[in-house]
Amino acid sequence: MIAFDQARRIVLSATGILAAQRIPANASIGRILAEDVFSPEHLPSFDNTAMDGFALATGGQAVPEGTEFVVSAALAAGEAAPAGCEGACEIMTGAPMPDGLDAVIPVEQVDVLKQDAGQWPQRIRLLHPVLPGANVRRRGQDISAGDFVMPSGTRIAAPERMVLAALGIAGIAVRMRPVAALLTTGRELIDDPGQTLLPGQIRNSNGPFLAERLLECGVELRIRQSLPDEAGAFTDAVRRCLEDGVELIISTGAVSMGRYDFIPDALRELGADILFHKVAMRPGKPLLFARLPGGALYFGLPGNPVSSAVGMRFFVEPAIRACLGLVQESPLRVPLAESVNKKPGFCMLQKALLQCDDQGRLSATVMKGQESFRIRPLLQSNAWAVLPEQGASMPAGTLVELYGLNGNGIVLNTCGVANAG
Ligand code: AMP
Ligand code: MG
Repeated sequence: MIAFDQARRIVLSATGILAAQRIPANASIGRILAEDVFSPEHLPSFDNTAMDGFALATGGQAVPEGTEFVVSAALAAGEAAPAGCEGACEIMTGAPMPDGLDAVIPVEQVDVLKQDAGQWPQRIRLLHPVLPGANVRRRGQDISAGDFVMPSGTRIAAPERMVLAALGIAGIAVRMRPVAALLTTGRELIDDPGQTLLPGQIRNSNGPFLAERLLECGVELRIRQSLPDEAGAFTDAVRRCLEDGVELIISTGAVSMGRYDFIPDALRELGADILFHKVAMRPGKPLLFARLPGGALYFGLPGNPVSSAVGMRFFVEPAIRACLGLVQESPLRVPLAESVNKKPGFCMLQKALLQCDDQGRLSATVMKGQESFRIRPLLQSNAWAVLPEQGASMPAGTLVELYGLNGNGIVLNTCGVANAG
């Protein structure tokens, strides 16, 4: 049995960063940048108006209220600016600033003194003074050509996609996705939710949970299989994974000390190097980590649902982050709301609730019901508390490490988002 921190270090040192591939920007959501992105263009790409109104020339000084202008042109977004605009130009939001004009007065701040038959303004009077540059968005004011916009390691979500689209970036280099397989073991498991359970059977809940988490983390889940408790079926399944190019195998069940816990021996028979088996933590102690011939990594998570969730959150997820070139998370440190007693010698991974009081102060409460078969508290918690190996009782106010329930940070019910990632 090895310590929690040591086991996590072994996982990270066994995990290499994946190669990069170029993909179209429009297929990049959820992918991780494998290059720094610099802007190829100015944004905005030309000076334009931020308001519907009238563009005019200030001559470099405030134009006083009451000044009158002849309106010589009208310009919509999408039109090219006319050359040599006399007086003022009626202009719509996003239209380019005509040469020589340098400020815009919003339409609500003028009196239209004269219109033509088509109701186009011909003469206006300013109801407010206008300063040079007013309501003009300058070329490159948001992002200039050559600017550094996003670092390698950024996950592409909607805002990043927006910036790529705005800058006309059609393709980017991203990390290859780790190719994964998920194997659930146990003859008691039933996958079909419509099937009535026979005596002794249970529903496979780890499979859907882990598949979802793996996809959210950015893997390509190439194989999903439920297996009986037979070493032969298991080794066949692992061989098939390797033939199909799987780089990361996650299994649940069959890694403890019971008669049917065949995985450690079956892996040895396959020639695997078992890097650790059993971690001084609760829940999830029987966790196994191995390297298969050819380099694929193997995570054997225990079958109890919360043990498998802990293995996923604290071992598989950091490995996926490392494959993808993401920085590792660092926890929040938050005072305990109530005292907690723990078993010394084990790191305890506890479902917890990060809360914010009406003064804006954060505190963490370790939930009731930490047994590894109980999944309902996962619905009521928003974080994992890591109670360190040493020590037995932690009084209220002790700072405790908190990680989000998944790697996307901690979402508070009452006051927005606190980041632990
Ligand atoms: P094991 O690690 O195989 O000894 O399983 C430990 C406990 O977890 C047993 O009560 C199993 O029935 C249960 N279990 C194993 N696999 C799953 C699964 N995929 N979904 C839900 N419970 C499971
Ligand atoms: Mg089992």
